[in-house]
Amino acid sequence: MSTPEPDTNLKVELLRSLDFFKPMDLEVIESLVQNCEEIILDPEEILFKEGEPGDAMYVILYGGLSIERENTVIAKRRRGDHVGEMSLIESGPRAATVKALTKTYLLKILKEPFHNHFTSNPQTLMEILRTISERSREDLEALDRSMKNLQEEKKITSRLQNLLNNTSSEIYTLDPSTFRFTHMNPRALRNLEYQSMEVTQLKPMDIIGDIDPEEFEEWVTLLRSNKREEVLFNAVHRRRDGSFYPVKTQLKMDFDESPPIIVGLVEDISELKEIENKYKQLTFYDPLTGLPNRTLIIDQLSSAISEASKENENVSVLLIDLHNFKTISNSLGYRVGDLLILAVAKQLKAASPPHGIVGRTGDNEFITVLSQSDNKTNAEDVACQLLDSFKIPFSIGGQDIFVGLGIGISSFPNNGQGAEALIEQAETAAKHLSQEGENNYCHYNSDMPFILKSKLLLEGDLRKGLERNEFELHYQPKLALESETITGFEALIRWNHPERGLLFPLDFIPVAEESDIIISIGDWVLKTACRQMKTWLNMDFPVQNIAVNLSGRQFKKEDLVSNIKKIILDADIQPKFIELEITETILMENLDTVTTKLRQLSEMGVKLSLDDFGTGYSSLRYLNSFPLDNIKIDRSFIKDITTEENATIAKAIVSLAKSFRLKTIAEGVEVENQKAIMRAIGCDFIQGYLLGKPIPAEEVIQQLSPL
Ligand code: C2E
Ligand code: CA
Ligand code: CA
Repeated sequence: MSTPEPDTNLKVELLRSLDFFKPMDLEVIESLVQNCEEIILDPEEILFKEGEPGDAMYVILYGGLSIERENTVIAKRRRGDHVGEMSLIESGPRAATVKALTKTYLLKILKEPFHNHFTSNPQTLMEILRTISERSREDLEALDRSMKNLQEEKKITSRLQNLLNNTSSEIYTLDPSTFRFTHMNPRALRNLEYQSMEVTQLKPMDIIGDIDPEEFEEWVTLLRSNKREEVLFNAVHRRRDGSFYPVKTQLKMDFDESPPIIVGLVEDISELKEIENKYKQLTFYDPLTGLPNRTLIIDQLSSAISEASKENENVSVLLIDLHNFKTISNSLGYRVGDLLILAVAKQLKAASPPHGIVGRTGDNEFITVLSQSDNKTNAEDVACQLLDSFKIPFSIGGQDIFVGLGIGISSFPNNGQGAEALIEQAETAAKHLSQEGENNYCHYNSDMPFILKSKLLLEGDLRKGLERNEFELHYQPKLALESETITGFEALIRWNHPERGLLFPLDFIPVAEESDIIISIGDWVLKTACRQMKTWLNMDFPVQNIAVNLSGRQFKKEDLVSNIKKIILDADIQPKFIELEITETILMENLDTVTTKLRQLSEMGVKLSLDDFGTGYSSLRYLNSFPLDNIKIDRSFIKDITTEENATIAKAIVSLAKSFRLKTIAEGVEVENQKAIMRAIGCDFIQGYLLGKPIPAEEVIQQLSPL
């Protein structure tokens, strides 16, 4: 069989028209075969189809093939039949190859020497073409798929790359065998202050500040052996300059890489830590003093208790209640109050033993926890120390302020078993003390809650008592020593309690003074006294005034003066018929307003007496500046006097009063001798059982008239 040389170009053209992207149509193949009856597929000939731009070129090859561009071999194929994409010599992305093979480039095809010519009959040709068609389709589809995948992958990769570059997390990869980093994302580099080329020189311990290398290795071993899927840990990262920042790290093994690598995902948690710290600060510390607050104290006390129970030790709670803090802060302002609290906090810390915990548990309440106190005395020693340290006034903004405090003590295991119970008991003990108003300490005992409860009940009773008009005033006369005449009476309250009988002020006034009920009681007393005065005036009972006791809470009221004025006017008497008795404590606790209020009262015409003089802590230097009329020498200075010689204090008070042009009233004069001595030392008035006990108004009339 002769083998006519077919026109290669023609054949190429012909075959070029075949669409290899689609499986070849049998008809087309057949017509091709018919038309080229004697087609000899010269092995040196190449059937090819150039695809659309961006597509691959498909080559059917019977000889060798090499594709060059600008004299460089860019693709080479060995002899053998092949349909499909070329494999490449050039390394590099596949896309580039594809591009290189598109129409845009002129391809130079070099033929290689060939041995086996073969002639094909139509059947053979058909078969070949069918094979070509089939395989081209398969290849094409495969290529399509891989191209698509590649493009997807590229998209994902670039997206991932973007994410990696822009994420706020640090990401690093670590070679688990060398323990060196292989890669760090830009954020990690920036945070750690390293350059990317330095990364491979770094080991985990160069950047993780506080981790045990052995522990880290163990984690890596676990990850490598797939025993753990991930490791999470909090650590600090060390920057190049040695500074640290807190991080949270997740380590995972990436088995898709070969060899597998460790991937670390690191979150800089500085901000989180800051928020956490702020939150902690707010939740566990008092914002003003920075001392632990109640919540934290309870926590620390609980730990102390559980430690102590193991060691058979004691824990004591000292609850420090500042008696007059509210008064100070109300009268001198919150700023002074705050400064005072700061000073008190400092003082408490200084006066507490080094192992003690000091906290602020309320506005005017501090706590000291003593965990190593072996017995009561230790807590008592500390309490005494604290009390001592408060004997000196605090100097705030140029003024000296005395802070009264009471310390309630409770201890484990004697009292409460839990932290909250212990604190409550110490509070109960402190409350118990606060009634006495003295600087002192006391231990909790189980009677205290009942006493407190009965106080609460009493408070309720007081309100009812007022409504039901169960109170009455008794009057105790005052005698002017010069004229030997009764000049006035002190009104003293009594309570006809429906169950408990006649109650004296000490049974209920201190409780009443703890709440605003004392205001109502005070108003009632003043109204009743005024009305009594009016009655006596109406009946020409020769009395110059009635003295009424004022309590601190009443004095603090802003409307004190106007209220008193109104009550006196309502009773239709002149203010000079009313004398107000005020204690030194009231004066000292209201230094800012006291002068104004006293002046207004004095200008109104009301008489003013300083009650219980000598028992409080007033400075004599103030006395002169207050518009007072009388000083009442406290009973304690009268009680024991038997001769003029042992009446030294009374004497001193009388002469002091005289120098200030104040009259003196001796309280609690029970016997003639005391009266005589008081007269001898120049005292102006006396009051006491010698003249008579306080009695109801009706009896006053019976006993004293006609005067
Ligand atoms: P105070 O103002 O010092 O009143 C004098 C107290 O001494 C009265 O006791 C009186 O009965 C008592 N007393 C008078 N003479 C003698 C004496 O010769 N010997 C002795 N041992 N005691 C004498 P009372 O009535 O029990 O009052 C006690 C305190 O209760 C008063 O002390 C006063 O601080 C307070 N108080 C009484 N009535 C009122 C009131 O209406 N309002 C307020 N806020 N307090 C009152
Ligand atoms: Ca009095
Ligand atoms: Ca008195």
